[in-house]
Amino acid sequence: MPTYAYRAVDMEKSCNHCRKGFESIQRMIDPPLTECPRCNNPISRVLFVPTVVIKGSPVTETDRKIKEYEKEGMWSHAAELADKEAEKTKREDLRVRALEDYKKAGYDFDKYDTEKY
Ligand SMILES: [Zn+2]
Repeated sequence: MPTYAYRAVDMEKSCNHCRKGFESIQRMIDPPLTECPRCNNPISRVLFVPTVVIKGSPVTETDRKIKEYEKEGMWSHAAELADKEAEKTKREDLRVRALEDYKKAGYDFDKYDTEKY
C-alpha cells in the first residue's frame, strides 16, 4: 500500500503532528485525508516526505529576477532580493548567493553582521 505524506495547510493553527508533516498508509481507493486526525485542521497531501531536502531547488520567478540583476551588475539589488527570498523560503543556496552578491556590491560582511549568517 502506498504511503502518503501530509502537511498542515495553516501553520498557525496546526498542531505539532501536522506542522512537521506525517505519513499515512492508505489504499489507492481511499480518499485523501483533508483534516489532521489530531487537531482537525486542514492538511494537504504532499508529494515528498517533508523531511527530505530536495537538492537543486526549483527555478522560481525570483531566481530569474536575481539572475537578471546579476547580469546587469546590480549586485545590491540582486543581494537584497536573494536575501529576502532566502528569509522567506529558508533556502540555503539563496542565503549564500545573497552574501556573495553583497560582497560584489562592496559590502564587507567580515566586519559586521556575521551573527545573522
Ligand atoms: Zn494537527
